[in-house]
Amino acid sequence: MPRSITLGSLCTRSQQGGGCRSPRGRVRSWPSPRSRPHHKAERSEGPWGRALEPPRHLCRAFLILLSAALLHWSPLGAQVKALRFGKLIDGSGRSLADAVVVVEGDRIKSVGAGDAAVPAGALVIDLRRFTGMPGMIDAHTHMTFYWDRTPGTRPWAQLAERPATETVFLAQENARRTLESGVTTVRDLGASDYADIAMRNLINRGAMVGPRMFVAGYGLSVSSAPTRAAGPQPAPGRADGVAEVMRVVREQVAAGVDVIKMYGSTGSDQDVTGFQTFTFEEMKAAVDVAHKFGKTIAIHSYGPDGARDATRAGAESVEHATDMDDETIAEMVRRGTFYVPTVDHNRYYVDARDEFGYGPAVVERLNDYIRRNFETMRKAVKAGVRIAMGSDAVFTGFGQNTGELEWLVKAGMTPAQALATATTNGAALLHMEHSLGSLAPGYYADIVAVEGDPLQDIHAAIRGVRWVMKGGEVVVDKRK
Ligand SMILES: [Zn+2]
Repeated sequence: MPRSITLGSLCTRSQQGGGCRSPRGRVRSWPSPRSRPHHKAERSEGPWGRALEPPRHLCRAFLILLSAALLHWSPLGAQVKALRFGKLIDGSGRSLADAVVVVEGDRIKSVGAGDAAVPAGALVIDLRRFTGMPGMIDAHTHMTFYWDRTPGTRPWAQLAERPATETVFLAQENARRTLESGVTTVRDLGASDYADIAMRNLINRGAMVGPRMFVAGYGLSVSSAPTRAAGPQPAPGRADGVAEVMRVVREQVAAGVDVIKMYGSTGSDQDVTGFQTFTFEEMKAAVDVAHKFGKTIAIHSYGPDGARDATRAGAESVEHATDMDDETIAEMVRRGTFYVPTVDHNRYYVDARDEFGYGPAVVERLNDYIRRNFETMRKAVKAGVRIAMGSDAVFTGFGQNTGELEWLVKAGMTPAQALATATTNGAALLHMEHSLGSLAPGYYADIVAVEGDPLQDIHAAIRGVRWVMKGGEVVVDKRK
């Protein structure tokens, strides 16, 4: 029952290891996962346990000694790390030579240059062979869509048959491959059985290694457009009419999602039709309810009609859309609506056609869709639509999360503009622009080291990732 949800419970359920948005949209600070166990120990169970609590004055003496010790220690304790890069670039295209990024806990403390910027006693990580850049944000994934590659099985069928509890564990591989591609944050747009919420929470508490996840739970779909996701039929995301749309959005919020996903047209997998499904009124109802709870909403539309109504309804982002007319594109610019084109997604399906069992006719349809999708991307780039990089990664597509950057450069972006779609723009879409997507004091220490210079050649960011830090912890190290 959404009305009974307090701000506190919203924060608990949807915290992303660093902040959560209140219904009014303010970002609240949140203790990092690391600091929480410590906090708990201070509050209640000491090492002695309740029954053997020492006398109060001993406690006080211990606390005084402890704080004296903490004061005496350099604030730059063992936790402080100094990362040295030959060159450091930002999502905005700025660059800094001989850069030093000082990391304390899960955040960036300072960004400077040269020996003088390395604090005394810091653990120095020498990455001077590499270019440093912000950890990237993939604005469209399906992290729980896992396939184990068993010969004779197909990805979609295997997903539908396997219990979600097993999928949550197995999908760690998708999470790991995502990190290896330099992506440290994802907006995960649709899952069954709230397996996405489980993964998000396990990652946030440090029990699973993976990117920060902002998740959507069940995507809303109409009766004629199955989401292809595993689970009971009809799926709990099914909604027809304004009242049902409002109920299903509220249910997702109550379950603890961060963002709402709505399938506003047909089209998924080998089906590249783009017939509008939800009406404008239904989309508007979904947008209004999502916004009332401080959530953003992503509306999927393969074709132009759903994209036009999604934009008019006030969705934060339109996913995939092809053949958008000039009027819709102009409206997106005017409103600041994000476009997440996902051109590379269908390139992946073509390349993985044997895994999915696609014949020549399907491949032809996919290639035709790619052409139209790319043409729409080109028009949107030219018009100045805000674009966020999204892979729509599923199954064996994880690890290829950043392939879209190449299409964006082909569509007319400079490498710096393309990088912005995966850093500052992704962060703005998540309303996390003060914590993610940049390298500056106070931001999360989500940092990637790549071979080469992505500002010269975007492929350095796509295929050159050698080392990744997420929230101050090294999660990928492929330096030789
Ligand atoms: Zn998707």
